[in-house]
Amino acid sequence: MSRRYAAPEGQIIQAFTFALDPTSTQVAQINRFFGARRMAFNWTVEQLKCDLEHYRTTGESIGPPSFYSLGKRWNAQKNNVCLNTHTGEVWWPEVSKEVFADGVRGATDAYLRWQKSRTGQIAGRPVGFPRFKKRGRDRDRFTFTTGTMRLEADRRHLTLPVLGTLRTHENTRRIERLVWLDRAKVLSVTVSRQGDRVIAAVRVAVARPQRATVAQPDSVVGIDVGVRRLATVATRDEVIGELANPRALERRLGELRRLQRQRCRRTRGSRQYRATTTKIARLHAEVAHLRHHTIHVFTTDLAKTHGVLVVEDLDVASLLQQKGLPGARSRRRGLSDAALGEIRRQLRYKCPWYGSTLIEANRFFPSSKTCHDCGYVQTIGWSEHWTCEECSSSHQRDDNAAINLARWVSLGSVGAPVKRGAEHQTESHLAAGEDTRKGSPTLVGPNNSVRSAARADSLECTHAATVFKREFPHYHGR
Ligand SMILES: [Zn+2]
Repeated sequence: MSRRYAAPEGQIIQAFTFALDPTSTQVAQINRFFGARRMAFNWTVEQLKCDLEHYRTTGESIGPPSFYSLGKRWNAQKNNVCLNTHTGEVWWPEVSKEVFADGVRGATDAYLRWQKSRTGQIAGRPVGFPRFKKRGRDRDRFTFTTGTMRLEADRRHLTLPVLGTLRTHENTRRIERLVWLDRAKVLSVTVSRQGDRVIAAVRVAVARPQRATVAQPDSVVGIDVGVRRLATVATRDEVIGELANPRALERRLGELRRLQRQRCRRTRGSRQYRATTTKIARLHAEVAHLRHHTIHVFTTDLAKTHGVLVVEDLDVASLLQQKGLPGARSRRRGLSDAALGEIRRQLRYKCPWYGSTLIEANRFFPSSKTCHDCGYVQTIGWSEHWTCEECSSSHQRDDNAAINLARWVSLGSVGAPVKRGAEHQTESHLAAGEDTRKGSPTLVGPNNSVRSAARADSLECTHAATVFKREFPHYHGR
């Protein structure tokens, strides 16, 4: 994809976000840019739809769409698209051209992802055709990739193209120091709205010294993520630490419900309605910040301390799809509140920074229901405490799982690349972690046919590709 940028050797790409304190003129300008980006995005989606329709009816191809070709088309047509019909004025010169380019690029990327998903080139849930964006239902944002992007030396200001110098709500020392020392280079800046705040994400290439700074290089730990406790850390023999769940959302549910009731009594679009909406947005932002802060502090500490970290390769998406059972909704909310996948995601990039190794245990490894004393595997359901039927030792679920994960390394998994599994919807047939079969997992299909996961995956993909090829022969194979 056009946006991909590979960092040079010894450098990594990192983003630093800062809340901004724009002036009222700048706020108006920024809001306008958000709308302009959405407009360019929607225009591009319209073009792509027309091209497809044209091809379907006449069989004539216009050529494969790309950011370059659509960008050229936008430049040719922007005088008509950005025309105020009441005043007869063309308004595009008032908005940075980068904003329009970002919209066109966003739609083109979405289109290409749809195409790849249909031909089975990307795993995961199917990606739909890009949809038209609507104000209020789309994340307000735009990205600058060229032009004057500078962090001012006073560490309190950020200079951007067209918008000029904006005051930052926070001190920018985290990144300004690196830029000044010539250890970081600004690649792009994304301005977005988060609740009632405007934030800037500064994407930089940073030179990171790749020296091993791990405090205990010989330490091997297993990390079990959960809801009761966010994480439990154990060595091969004992539990050495745990991270309590801050239950950020759960603690504020009462307040959230009160605000939502209050809002629904008010007239849609009124001043009071908007005021309550702002309060709700602030509450959600507070929850998100608290959750992120807790997890970031924890993962940085882990990555800096231990030589080898073992985590479970949980399929969080399928956990979140549980339905039907009593209490399923609140369980899903609890799972979301715990941000289960986030710890693993952060460890994936932080471990290489500090020189530690992250190992993802096979998702079919029964870490919770294997007794760590005798190795007997039994069904334990959702219970927190359980007793082994073989050696009658009692276990706390998370403690036991963490110890088993730490031992996963000695099971001969080091060296062998951990397969990420066949990430496909067919997997929702299996409740994650409830399968005791080891090695190549098998899936039971809808008509009771048993087939291997890899085979099932390729069958599905071949089918999707055939359908796609029949419908759009021209677009296939890019
Ligand atoms: Zn036992």
